[in-house]
Amino acid sequence: MTITVNVKTQKFASLLTKNESIMNLMLHACCAPCSAPILESLGKQGIKPVIFYYNPNIYPIAEYEKRRDEIVRYTQKLGIPFIEGDYNHDEWLAAVQGHENEPERGCRCLLCFKMRLLATAKAAAQHGCDTIASTLSSSRWKSLEQIDEAGNFAVANINNVSYLAKNWRKGGLQQRRNELIKENGFYNQLYCGCEYSMSRLEDKEN
Ligand code: SF4
Repeated sequence: MTITVNVKTQKFASLLTKNESIMNLMLHACCAPCSAPILESLGKQGIKPVIFYYNPNIYPIAEYEKRRDEIVRYTQKLGIPFIEGDYNHDEWLAAVQGHENEPERGCRCLLCFKMRLLATAKAAAQHGCDTIASTLSSSRWKSLEQIDEAGNFAVANINNVSYLAKNWRKGGLQQRRNELIKENGFYNQLYCGCEYSMSRLEDKEN
């Protein structure tokens, strides 16, 4: 697969002086625990994104709904717009076919990120947002390089939408994540999301 990188990447720090450029941010959200410290941090900078929950990777659907309901509850509390994408798990399975046995951070994850961020870029264009970012970039389990590659791939295919590259693991956000989980009583999942990542759950149970 040909991958286009660094096409329209914007670094977050440079945007702080251009507040108008990030007022139309669509934030792809994977779950409430990852989203909460980012939303708090953005809010302190006067940025209110639109949340896009598009995670067809999550299996089973009960787990998808549980994670979704938590972030719906939190965005309602904050008064932040929330949009839910399709739960097309069969399409997701087709997208990663042949890579089922890859480890986390392997090429299955890159395909997974590309599917989710491409849908985010399309939704951003539909809803008048000019920038996308993802809470996936807050997880220490994931490759930041893969997420940025997927973000750049996504915006390369959609006109007038830029990708905001950000390392959400820095700046005390990890510690704040743990505090906000307790403060809000968030459900905090024990595996990444797909059926192939559930072995991490089994490891914890043994
Ligand atoms: S382990 Fe996580 S990132 Fe990787 S394919 Fe599964 S759901 Fe996607």
